[in-house]
Amino acid sequence: MTLVYQSTRNEKNKVTASQAILQGLATDGGLFTPVDFPDVNLDFDRLKSASYQEVAKLVLSAFLDDFTEEELDFCIDNAYDAKFDTPVIAPLVKLGDQYHLELFHGSTIAFKDMALSILPYLLTTAAKKQGVDDKIVILTATSGDTGKAAMAGFADVAGTEIIVFYPNGGVSKIQELQMTTQVGDNTHVVAIEGNFDDAQTKVKEMFNDESLRQKLAAKGAQFSSANSMNIGRLVPQIVYYIYAYAQLLNDGQLEKGEKINITVPTGNFGNILAAYYAKQIGLPVHKLICASNENNVLTDFFATGFYDKKRRFKVTSSPSMDILVSSNLERLIFHLVGNDSAKTRELMTALVDKGEYQLSAVNPDILDFFEAGFATEGETSAEIKRLYDDLSYIEDPHTAVASAVYRAYRDRTGDQTKTIIASTASPYKFPRVAVEAVKGKDSGDDFAAVQELHDLSGVAIPKAVKGLETAPIRHRKVVEVAAMQKAVESYLDV
Ligand SMILES: *Cc1c(COP(=O)(O)O)cnc(C)c1O
Repeated sequence: MTLVYQSTRNEKNKVTASQAILQGLATDGGLFTPVDFPDVNLDFDRLKSASYQEVAKLVLSAFLDDFTEEELDFCIDNAYDAKFDTPVIAPLVKLGDQYHLELFHGSTIAFKDMALSILPYLLTTAAKKQGVDDKIVILTATSGDTGKAAMAGFADVAGTEIIVFYPNGGVSKIQELQMTTQVGDNTHVVAIEGNFDDAQTKVKEMFNDESLRQKLAAKGAQFSSANSMNIGRLVPQIVYYIYAYAQLLNDGQLEKGEKINITVPTGNFGNILAAYYAKQIGLPVHKLICASNENNVLTDFFATGFYDKKRRFKVTSSPSMDILVSSNLERLIFHLVGNDSAKTRELMTALVDKGEYQLSAVNPDILDFFEAGFATEGETSAEIKRLYDDLSYIEDPHTAVASAVYRAYRDRTGDQTKTIIASTASPYKFPRVAVEAVKGKDSGDDFAAVQELHDLSGVAIPKAVKGLETAPIRHRKVVEVAAMQKAVESYLDV
């Protein structure tokens, strides 16, 4: 039987895994979501000694069940290879009484590599399966992290082209260099004279522009999206939670069947939803702890069932979590209201029209399973310093939000369940914040901070940062917002 992915906003809109990946977002605006979860045999006696790739095969073949074994092998082998700086792909580090699951060993040193290194292969394979032989053109607006991770994933993947827009002057020096030095004949980077919202709005317009769509079709090409609403990004994120549990068993840190907590620093709710799906297929989990920064819309939501985006947007030291509309939460809402697509559509319409919605009559078993909290800027920086002083380990600010929220949860509840912290970025990606937290003084410059971070932690400077200062700049285009479409047309020759 083939697994059904249903739109969260229309129960008649049902597709297979490969169709869901190719479409990205459902045309009714909903997100494709599994209604029934697959039967997966999580035999941890066997999984204890399995490689990351083997666990990936188990999980992906269950969720993406219209892909053949050969297709999945091809995708997995091309994704989780020497692009990662360790053969274990996602190492676990024991730090006092918590376990850090380091998800930042891929090519852009942030956790988005875990899914974006496989998405290009899933997407091109899905297209082939659906008889689509168009070139897949990825358009992305980025505030810094996603664009680079997507380019690293799609660079030189046959049958794809990727165009990334970022706000000129709106990203860190390291992030900018990571993008402008990107290699790959099919990658294009454009700085725009505007902010992230301007870029995002224009990208959405281009997606929905019928005449542009036709021009592309005439050239044998079509747009697609690499954003986190695509289940092709969600499913690969289930893998590392299963893998981490197997590693803990293998190390004798857990008894068979013992439950764990997982704390996830959250923005769009994708990473933590993947942990929930891991639980749905049998991972022994006690609590999922949703950690936010000062943009704490999710903390309030879990406390009251009231989602209210009408609040001031705060720029924090964990920018990848500076989000007021958490797009993947829609999938949890759908499950909370009993997989009711009419109800979900009503709530999501209220969010657009009124900026808020109130949840009622939810499934308490699902809700009780989540804990939520947030860390202020001061608490985040104090947590980086505390962990360094105690254990000489330096966290990036996103991970520090999670570890601060977990500490507060444990102090509040006395819950002694062993806990995994999803560690979403290398501190080398945010070196100034990390160094300032430890030393109490700003380095003044990203590259000076990289050196100081190395001196403090002794952790090798990752390939992704080394050489960035001297790497040749390959992308120099800067355009007005109004000229973004012209840039796309000239790259695609339409
Ligand atoms: C994207 C990102 C997050 C948030 O992940 P979501 O899946 O959007 O909740 C957290 N930390 C880092 C470093 C990220 O890049």
